[in-house]
Amino acid sequence: MSIKLYNSLTNKKEDFKPVEEGKVKMYVCGQTVYDNMHIGHGRTYISFDTIRRYLQYRGYDVETVINITDVNEKIDKRAKEEGNSAKEIAEKYTRINLEDFKSLGINAEAYPKASEYIEEMKEMIEKLIEKGFAYQSDGNVFFDVKKFADYGKLSNQKLEDLKSERDDIMDMESKKDQRDFVLWRSRDDYGGPTWESPWGEGVPGWHIECSAMSSRLLGEKIDIHGGGVDLVFPHHEDEIAQCEACNDKKPWVNYWMHSGLVRLEDEKMSKSLGNFVSTRELLKNHRPEVLRTLVVSTHYRKPLNYSEKLLNQAEKNFKTIENVLNSLEAEINSKDIIPEKLTDNDNKVRKKLFDKKKEFEKAMNNDFNTPKALKELLGIVKLANKYLKSGKTNLNVLKTLLSVLEELSWVLGVLPYSQGSEISPNSYLVEKILELREEVREEGEYELADRIREVVEKSGVKVEDTDKGVKWS
Ligand SMILES: [Zn+2]
Repeated sequence: MSIKLYNSLTNKKEDFKPVEEGKVKMYVCGQTVYDNMHIGHGRTYISFDTIRRYLQYRGYDVETVINITDVNEKIDKRAKEEGNSAKEIAEKYTRINLEDFKSLGINAEAYPKASEYIEEMKEMIEKLIEKGFAYQSDGNVFFDVKKFADYGKLSNQKLEDLKSERDDIMDMESKKDQRDFVLWRSRDDYGGPTWESPWGEGVPGWHIECSAMSSRLLGEKIDIHGGGVDLVFPHHEDEIAQCEACNDKKPWVNYWMHSGLVRLEDEKMSKSLGNFVSTRELLKNHRPEVLRTLVVSTHYRKPLNYSEKLLNQAEKNFKTIENVLNSLEAEINSKDIIPEKLTDNDNKVRKKLFDKKKEFEKAMNNDFNTPKALKELLGIVKLANKYLKSGKTNLNVLKTLLSVLEELSWVLGVLPYSQGSEISPNSYLVEKILELREEVREEGEYELADRIREVVEKSGVKVEDTDKGVKWS
């Protein structure tokens, strides 16, 4: 069954076909590191991480890059307000950003920082000037949008309808055309670091970093480019212009995907409105899995109306998933190792389970319809609870229920971290180390056994010696 996804470039649902068979290259625009991540950003990263997980579940080898914008006037502004250097602010919020990713279970193969790819950006700008797509003016370099025939293809705008790039107003005087956007900016008033360049000392424009980092890390053609819908114009439109003009590969991105905005009780959430809920704040009182449950309960392209009610519902749903996993494990542990023959009811339960699993996949294949997939998952939870209550359970059926539930919960990012998500300790390793400890103990080497236990516990794993052997959590 193929995966269909909505491509913002064509405004259609399309069959997903990767550039290279079995592989997916995905770039997601990340944080500008001058403040905590708000729930709107959190939603974007969780959505694309869920997409990554489902692609992995379907057997693709997924390579994800999420950038960190650590060169930006917003950082400079924040530094001035706080009386710190721009470098200190960028470093502080980069650390916080990466910690938040880790606690939310968001994974990428690389988190490149803009400040570490200045050479790549300069090379790209030079190439664009050489090819006639860009020009210099007063120490700045601008992209000449009239030279790029496809300009406006992502945001569905005609060049003649465009007025100016909204974030480049400060450079109006040196532009030939107000619609042109900045690639390199001469900045004598910039408080952050500046770099030497053939056009004078300055800083890169914002858009060029993603084009340069994506090309360097993922190659000149990629499968999926993601980000919040607020980035379509000008950011993504400009990224396309830069890459396709520079690299001659069209299209640079096969599928453009955009996640919807988050509204606070129906009001568009944005920092400028002071309407700001940080993921960090939420994580103080709620487990990360709850936040992920909340995000997947709305389709990624739709606006997410954040409310206490939605959060409570997510909390409740997550709890039922966690409880049934625990109950299944307890029931499995209480069973004899030799399973009995399957009864009619066992067979019925198994069939229902696989039907629901299929429905789950069908929902995810349809442009990652996570609310529908979550519904199917909760359906399996119900089925498992009913089966457990029936009083007659079979070891094999229990194990199948548990493994399907664990697998699908992992895809949605709602598998309790203690049950083995990517940020929990590697269960296989812990098991093996504890087995070794048992062997050492049996040979009377208690001191060594204690040291092994200490090491394991330092990694955050609790070890308990019980009558039935070693337990860990
Ligand atoms: Zn970007």
